Parts: sequence; C-alpha cells; structure tokens
Amino acid sequence: MQRPYNFSAGPAAIPEDVLQQAASEMLDWRGSGMSVMEMSHRGKEFISICEKAEADFRQLLAVPQNFHILFMQGGGLAENAIVPLNLSQGGAVDFVVTGSWSQKSTKEAAKFCNAAVAATDEAQGFTHIPDPASWKLRSDARYVHICSNETINGVEFQQLPDLASLGCQAPLVIDFSSHVASRSVDWSRVGLAFGGAQKNLGPAGLTLVVVREDLLGHAMAMCPSAFNYRLVADNQSMYNTPPTWGIYIAGLTFEWILRQQEGAASGVAALEARNSAKAELLYQAIDGSQLYENRVARDCRSRMNVPFFLKDESRNQAFLDGAKARGLLQLKGHKSVGGMRASIYNAMPLAGVQALVDYMQSFEKQG
Ligand code: PMP
Repeated sequence: MQRPYNFSAGPAAIPEDVLQQAASEMLDWRGSGMSVMEMSHRGKEFISICEKAEADFRQLLAVPQNFHILFMQGGGLAENAIVPLNLSQGGAVDFVVTGSWSQKSTKEAAKFCNAAVAATDEAQGFTHIPDPASWKLRSDARYVHICSNETINGVEFQQLPDLASLGCQAPLVIDFSSHVASRSVDWSRVGLAFGGAQKNLGPAGLTLVVVREDLLGHAMAMCPSAFNYRLVADNQSMYNTPPTWGIYIAGLTFEWILRQQEGAASGVAALEARNSAKAELLYQAIDGSQLYENRVARDCRSRMNVPFFLKDESRNQAFLDGAKARGLLQLKGHKSVGGMRASIYNAMPLAGVQALVDYMQSFEKQG
C-alpha cells in the first residue's frame, strides 16, 4: 500500500521506515518485554536509547564537544521564555524579526528581559531578510535571536549571520524548529539552537536544545528548575522525566538520517542535496505558471516550507479537494497568510514533490 504524501507543517510526516520499526518494537522493545513507553527513564534500556540518540545527533550535525545536547519539553514556544530566563539576566536582548515565529519570540521574551527589534521585514509582509549590515545591535545585548526558518512565511536564512563580523560579540540564538537536520549548521556562529521535534525529527512533545557550555549557569533566580539548562545538562536531560517516546522516535529518525545516501553524500549532506532538488522543482513550477505565485525574495526562500497562492482565490477549495483525492494531504496555508503551503521536510521524497507539481500543472490546465 502506498501511503498518501503528507505536506503538513507539523506535526509532520515521519519516514515510513521509522514508523515500521517503531510498530515492530511497540509491544516488546528488543527482548526487554516492555514498550519504550513503559520503561523507567532511569533503567539501563532507556538510558541506552537516550545515549545513542544524543551521540547520533551529535554525529549527524557535527555538534562540537563544547556544546550540550538537551532533550526537553515545552516546544518552541516554551523556549521563547526559557532562553531569556537562562541567558538574558534580565538585560538587553536583540531580535531580528523575519516572520510570525520571531515576532512571537520577541513578545514572549519581553516579559523577562529588555527585548528590542534590531531589524524587521514586517512592512514588506515578511518576504525578505533585512541585510545584516543594517541590524541595530546593541553593544550590551546578552544575545541576538533569529528564527533561521520561518515556518509560516517561508523565509529561510541560507547562511547564518556572522555576528562577530558585524562587530557584535553576543552569542547568536537560533530557532531552527522547522529546518533542523535539513542542512548543516555552522556552529562557530551559534551559541544556542532550539527546536521542537515535530517537523523534522519525530513526534510532538520533544524539544531539542543545543547550547554552548559557557552559556550555562547564568539562569535568573525565577527560572523553573526543570527549565534550567545547567541542571538539565548536569543530569543528562533526566532532571525530570524526559519525553521518552519522543526521544526514542527521534533516535530512530537520526539512524534513518545517517543511512541516507545521495551520490557520494551521506547523512545530512545527502538530505541537503535532496532538499535543494525538491525545493527547486517546486519553486520552478510555481514561478513558471500563470496561476500560482510565491512572494518571498528568491535569496531567502525556504527549502522546507513553500507558501504559494492561487491568483484566482475562488479556486482554493477546488485545489485542495482535488489534491486530497490524489493523496496529497494538508496543503492548506496557515490561517494568518492564507493560500497554500507545502511543507517538504526531510521525510518527503522527491517523488512526493513531483506528484504535487504534476497535480498543480494539471489543475492549472483544467482552467
Ligand atoms: N518556532 C517555529 C519556527 C515553529 O515552526 C513553531 C511551530 N510551528 C514554533 C516555534 C512553536 O513550536 P511549538 O508549537 O512546539 O511550541
């Protein structure tokens, strides 16, 4: 049976191999007599799952040894509070606002620190990334926050900004929720990265935080203990009960990523090549048509989330109905933007994007 292609923005498609493996291990994980959901997080079985997941994630994104990998709960939105509680000491924090998620991050952080917008593209409807040379960064900023891929607006940093070259010594914090593990990360430019798992890594409920050692230990007194990065790191993500099922599925996904091959490339490099090819195919189809349009500047279009509009909006529902009938699911755009959105995360094969493009072209021809 071929499953439909699922273009959900998140929770999103999970590689079928991962689902199959989880299904086969559901009742009895490798002779333990238990499902992973039924194991103590302090037992040797789960500790082995957790340690392997962490080591595999470190390998696949080449995370340097002076960064901790934390498995937490609360999702991206909770991190909007947890990051300032740990890093800001109530001082100045600068935000670059390139879409809905970085906008939300700014508002939430303002409860805990002196948050300011260093640059924003709101006036242009979040279709560009303001030139880093124009960012108004304060000399006393404790950190600078960006959302490296805006899931709703479809705006992605193709390269992370080099704050040092802008004369800014503050660490860069990135919300990489919706493109983690889709491309490599230049850790020399990053102090902390966070992301929910439910797009590229597994089920909802698990949040990944990758944080440089020197940024730990500065939490504000009011920071809840379970969200204090120092405590979480010192307890190998087991200060409180971690989201064990999420860590297990993410671990299977990391193994799947490490197995991926594309020509001579493997792992994340293979996915990066595949993701570029998928995005190019879809953007070319949109740009080459009379019916569809994408409004994001070409140099910052997301490879993961492709919002597009039908110039004749009265055909939106017919488009969605026809897509569903062909096994192309969850293409409706976010309610704040409208139109359509195709999320083409790691688990989406090139054949899925090709099926979407074929459908879009036949729908356009129907007139
Ligand atoms: N940041 C980004 C970039 C997101 O896409 C999302 C979720 N769509 C969030 C933060 C919020 O994550 P959560 O719902 O897990 O709190």
